[in-house]
Amino acid sequence: MAWDFSTESKFEAKLAWMRGFVRDEIIPLETLDLDRPTYERITAPLKDRVRDEGLWAAHLPPELGGGGFGQVKLGLMHEVLGQCRFAPAVFGNNAPDSGNAELLALGGSPEQQERWMHPLLRGELRSSFSMTEPGAGADPTMLTTRAVRDGDEYVINGHKWFSSNASIADFLIVMAVTDPDVSPYQGSSMIVVPTDTPGVDILRDIPVMNHPTHYGRLDGGHAEIVYTDVRVPAENLVGNPGDGFRLAQQRLGPGRIHHAMRWLGQSKRAFDMLCERAVSRETHGSLLSDKQMIQDMVALSAAEMAAARLLTLQAAWVMDTAGASNARIEIGMIKYWGAKVLHDVIDRAIQVHGSLGFTGDLPLEQMYRDARAARIYDGPDEVHKATVAKRILRGYSPVEVPTEHVPTRAEAARRKFADQLDAVTANL
Ligand SMILES: Cc1cc2nc3c(=O)[nH]c(=O)nc-3n(C[C@H](O)[C@H](O)[C@H](O)COP(=O)(O)OP(=O)(O)OC[C@H]3O[C@@H](n4cnc5c(N)ncnc54)[C@H](O)[C@@H]3O)c2cc1C
Repeated sequence: MAWDFSTESKFEAKLAWMRGFVRDEIIPLETLDLDRPTYERITAPLKDRVRDEGLWAAHLPPELGGGGFGQVKLGLMHEVLGQCRFAPAVFGNNAPDSGNAELLALGGSPEQQERWMHPLLRGELRSSFSMTEPGAGADPTMLTTRAVRDGDEYVINGHKWFSSNASIADFLIVMAVTDPDVSPYQGSSMIVVPTDTPGVDILRDIPVMNHPTHYGRLDGGHAEIVYTDVRVPAENLVGNPGDGFRLAQQRLGPGRIHHAMRWLGQSKRAFDMLCERAVSRETHGSLLSDKQMIQDMVALSAAEMAAARLLTLQAAWVMDTAGASNARIEIGMIKYWGAKVLHDVIDRAIQVHGSLGFTGDLPLEQMYRDARAARIYDGPDEVHKATVAKRILRGYSPVEVPTEHVPTRAEAARRKFADQLDAVTANL
């Protein structure tokens, strides 16, 4: 299996431009408490510069205005963008809009693409992905939201929560059961629902660990929504009836790789803070960087981040070369490994900063609270570990005696080399 670690020089130049642009033009915005109009005013010219570089909405194929880069290059881009929460939006690929645009690109009709996807890409519309229910999350075969065909319309009834961005979205992509008489894998569908459709009741933005009291003025929260007799035209169904799981899988596979690479950008930022503090802070007679327990944190973090990076790029490469369905093990591994590395590196960076790390005077405490969710969204650790383990275990068969049982192997070896062994014995 060939593996090339280099990045072609033309693309490396793009990455170098991105690093400087994110550092100099976008990261400084983090410290300002911007309202949306001011944010839009500041970021509009930045988005134009991204377009001029040919890097806008790079996750989409060229015919839809994207870069057609493939997952490896996208992964390398997301590593740069992941450093700053504003960067993905300035590059036209912020979640959940990027995944929803990808979904409409994959399964949407030309009319759906015209009405929803292109305005989404131009930043004129915002979207939300409404799948999880209070009673069904990690196991989406348990979804109960129903969409019933009635003439030229679907009528949707159900209760969702954690629909990120729904409270500021123009439309929702709702996962609903369209045929309860077949397996959920064949009986679920995705339907585009404009947020202002009668019967869509956004109850609240749920208080969460990284936004316990209120949301920033820029993003929507994770909304709880009740759908009561919501009527939408039948042509709002994405793909064919029953395509829901297939589309969800296609949407979430690349999304997980992009998450994992963004987490590396975040981890690296925390790691840089850890190292800077280690060489700056003196205590108990020496710099922190001279103490072996701190050196252990540096060495462990560096190795874990390198492992996460290689795993993620390998997953991206398998997707590019063999397709997403052949990368299930790799994608599962980076989901739980990447989320753990992100959490652990930020945790160590906080520790090395002592009380300062626990304050809002550094970005670490917010990064830590954001990182905790990574072990849950897009499937919790345990589900991905189970997928990986089950697929690996399929390659093994049960045996009565372990294959490596030494007495059994010795017996077989004696039979195999009997002639030579007899010759040795005869010469004694
Ligand atoms: C910040 C954030 C943003 C989100 N955004 C969205 C969004 O935009 N749209 C959307 O639809 N959803 C969204 N979600 C929901 C998310 O996808 C679900 O929370 C996730 O799939 C887990 O479902 P659940 O919360 O119902 O947990 P449950 O299904 O109740 O699982 C609870 C726990 O049980 C354990 N568990 C579950 N299955 C297994 C298993 N097979 N083996 C062993 N242990 C297991 C795990 O520890 C798991 O954490 C978001 C969640 C968060 C935290």
